[in-house]
Amino acid sequence: MALQNGNTKKKLDIVVVGGGLVGSLEAIFLAKRGHRVSLYEYREDLRTTPHVRGRSINLALSVRGRKALKGVGVEDHMVNEHGIPMRARMIHRPDGTTYSIPYDARTNQCIYSVGRNYLNNILLKESENYDNVKKYFNHKLIKSNLRNGSLTFLKTETNETVDVTADLIIGADGAFSAVRKEMMKQPLFDFSQQYIEHGYLELCIPASEDGVFQMPPNYLHIWPRGNFMMIALPNQDCSWTVTLFMPFKNFKDIDTDEKLMIFFQKYFSDSIPLIGEKKLIEDFFGGSPSPLVAVKCRPYNVLDKALIIGDAAHAVVPFYGQGMNAGFEDCYILDELFRKHHDNVADILQDFSDSRWKDAFAISDLAMYNYIEMRDLVTRPSYRLRKAVDDFLFWLLPDFWVPLYNSVTFTTMPYSQCVKNRQWQNQVTRLFL
Ligand SMILES: Cc1cc2nc3c(=O)[nH]c(=O)nc-3n(C[C@H](O)[C@H](O)[C@H](O)COP(=O)(O)OP(=O)(O)OC[C@H]3O[C@@H](n4cnc5c(N)ncnc54)[C@H](O)[C@@H]3O)c2cc1C
Repeated sequence: MALQNGNTKKKLDIVVVGGGLVGSLEAIFLAKRGHRVSLYEYREDLRTTPHVRGRSINLALSVRGRKALKGVGVEDHMVNEHGIPMRARMIHRPDGTTYSIPYDARTNQCIYSVGRNYLNNILLKESENYDNVKKYFNHKLIKSNLRNGSLTFLKTETNETVDVTADLIIGADGAFSAVRKEMMKQPLFDFSQQYIEHGYLELCIPASEDGVFQMPPNYLHIWPRGNFMMIALPNQDCSWTVTLFMPFKNFKDIDTDEKLMIFFQKYFSDSIPLIGEKKLIEDFFGGSPSPLVAVKCRPYNVLDKALIIGDAAHAVVPFYGQGMNAGFEDCYILDELFRKHHDNVADILQDFSDSRWKDAFAISDLAMYNYIEMRDLVTRPSYRLRKAVDDFLFWLLPDFWVPLYNSVTFTTMPYSQCVKNRQWQNQVTRLFL
């Protein structure tokens, strides 16, 4: 028995599966509470191999994610020393002209572009400050019994297997979670997944020859084109990660350099000199579009033995910039539940399962909707009129009328409540719009 926060509480042996963004953060939260944490990650340690490819090079960090990072003491560094503020969407018209739509005209809040690997690195480094965190890289979970807390990992460097037992298993092993697959064998486990018909391909606008940004940096740049779109987020080295989201069929149709250039001339002509024709061709044909999947499931726990969080529990399409933020919020909420239930695992897991799914389902649906807004609606006069009305009412009644995007991105209001607010706001605006 160990003394913690003035109470005598049993230290638990907790295995966290997945050392991505969410697993690394969760390991720190658990270590802070004094538990013995073993973090098992399939890939190699990205701190020693900086070029491990992630799914996206940079991500938009917003309030929910920031709050969780603050809980482990790394928010300040990520926001003030690394993150690049993005205060507005900058819309690129097909003719190359642009205009901007602020995210928060009232208080000028912004989202931050952060490097995925950099953030993961910071979290892994932070975990070094806790003797009670052990990390095992190149370990792939291949078998588990979630009812008795036993796991088998394959050491990918040597092909040996390792058997481990835990008081509690936390699955933070992403959208294709092995822990979740095991949960699917449990009775009453609901699961659905949806692949959208669109994939994404990452391109790059390099820094200029003078080493500066080639576009105004404090924006999320969007080229909305109806059924597809391209976006760009700034990187620390003054380059841009450019992501083209488009139906797989359209990607397939572009199968020669000439077709690619005709396509870009027609839809994204202003980006060609920025990317460079040669680099555009190399990057486009050098990669292949990746799929996007949304996962909904529940419950998130098995008895008092296992829990899934992050993408393992609720992978969402990336169009609200909330996947990581929601996963980080899971860690924060879980920490609050550890406090509320005095480390009683059965109550903590039950409470998390019972309460979190509504919000996870809500952000999943919102993210699907936001793709249509970003690639299409954003260019329409009706969208801009509604945004102007929302912004005016928000300015007039800041505690009463919080527009949907602001409540999702700049508050920690439960996602399901953000949706409910939007519903009554829609009813009100319909009266006069
Ligand atoms: C194109 C794109 C853009 C995005 N942009 C944003 C954004 O702007 N803002 C935002 O908030 N979110 C964004 N997201 C979502 C975000 O990337 C995810 O929500 C986030 O990475 C989830 O983190 P995670 O740790 O739960 O899962 P992951 O990042 O997938 O990490 C899971 C980890 O588990 C490991 N693992 C998997 N299987 C095993 C196994 N069997 N054994 C051991 N380890 C295993 C993996 O190697 C990985 O390291 C974006 C996603 C995409 C695809």
